[in-house]
Amino acid sequence: MAPSSTNFRLDGIYKQRQDGFYMQRVKLAAGVISSAQARAVAAISERFGRGTIHLTSRGSMEIHWLREEDLPQIKRELAKTGLTSRGACGGAVRGVTCSGHGFPGFPHLESLARRVHRHFTGNPRFEQLPKKFKIGVEADLSGRRHLIQDVGLVLAGQESGVPCYDVWIAGGLGREPQPGFLLEAGLPEGRIIPVIEAVIAVYTTHAPPPKRLKFLARQFGEQKLRQLIEAEPVFAESFPAESGFPENLSTGESGSHQVELAVFAGELVSEQLIRIADAADTWADGIVQVTANQNVLLTVTPGGDVAVLGKRVEDTTGLKWDTAPQAFRICPGCHECSMGLSETRTIAAMLLEQVGDTGKKLTWALSGCPNSCTQPQLADVGIVSSSLVKGDNGERTPRFDLYRLGEIGFGNAVARSLTLEQLVDEVRHIA
Ligand code: SF4
Repeated sequence: MAPSSTNFRLDGIYKQRQDGFYMQRVKLAAGVISSAQARAVAAISERFGRGTIHLTSRGSMEIHWLREEDLPQIKRELAKTGLTSRGACGGAVRGVTCSGHGFPGFPHLESLARRVHRHFTGNPRFEQLPKKFKIGVEADLSGRRHLIQDVGLVLAGQESGVPCYDVWIAGGLGREPQPGFLLEAGLPEGRIIPVIEAVIAVYTTHAPPPKRLKFLARQFGEQKLRQLIEAEPVFAESFPAESGFPENLSTGESGSHQVELAVFAGELVSEQLIRIADAADTWADGIVQVTANQNVLLTVTPGGDVAVLGKRVEDTTGLKWDTAPQAFRICPGCHECSMGLSETRTIAAMLLEQVGDTGKKLTWALSGCPNSCTQPQLADVGIVSSSLVKGDNGERTPRFDLYRLGEIGFGNAVARSLTLEQLVDEVRHIA
């Protein structure tokens, strides 16, 4: 029996803004995809969609403009190359993210992300959650992304050769941003999955749909939430740190170089993705990494001259190679998303024209609605499309809140309900 369209979400599918079209999100643990898998995504987009692929700030790939009748075949095509979309939307454990792509120990972070992804994906026990459940693995605290996860894992060194992680919980952005708090410090890797299970058990027992875990932190307070989690029998369990070989696809060989390709708004066409996959096979380790800033990163083979390799990759893919590419995270907004209040890509292109050398060094993020999918509260300059306002001529135009990042925590709103003209003016001053 075919699932109802509301159940499509568990298979990573949302209705698009445009009637009769769907978006398929593909989960990539730590944003890592093999060249063969990337070609499969490009082929699906070409055959069933309009040949576009959106890279998200959580390291997933999204294919838009799909028809309902093609969705089962698309699922089969993804599965043929070992890709899954299960739990990429809906009340499930979402794609496990990692923003440490340039970090020398990235392969180990990816291995953990992959184990966590494998454990929670497709298991019905973790697919009936009150709302989405986000997990991130981070190299350090610097990007503050541990603060926005339901469970944020931050590498905290090693004990007797076993990696240990600080475990942060109950964070989230959206309409009610709330930074996570530290549940456990220096937890050995073998305890990570049992502790996440304990957190999910408490979440499913106590949170009414559609509340996130952060709701319980507000309702109970940190202390009571911690007590409930620690009282779960699974909390004290420990698994072997690694069940067999490490699971990472990225190699991170010593002496290798990172080549990051700038992708405006995370928007690729299928031909570009195929060329990226070709470049990954020819000059890198056959792996493509989707970064948290919606760019593409290749680890080029040791021994080569990075400038020469970077130029070759640039020529092959047609994407600009940059040692410090502009970081401007941009969601699909009302170009495709049903929640979108503004034309994010058009507005971002307009704002980028105002950004001079100073502004280029800052991180930027623009979200098409208060859901804040591009994490504007973690960018140096964050912009949230906050509402639509009807003018005298009856036309509804978007208003924007502007955020600036401080020393700690989330960015604060420094201006609210700006018109587009006022926003451009503010950006001109910042940049
Ligand atoms: S921020 Fe809003 S408009 Fe943008 S992708 Fe998320 S839900 Fe859609």
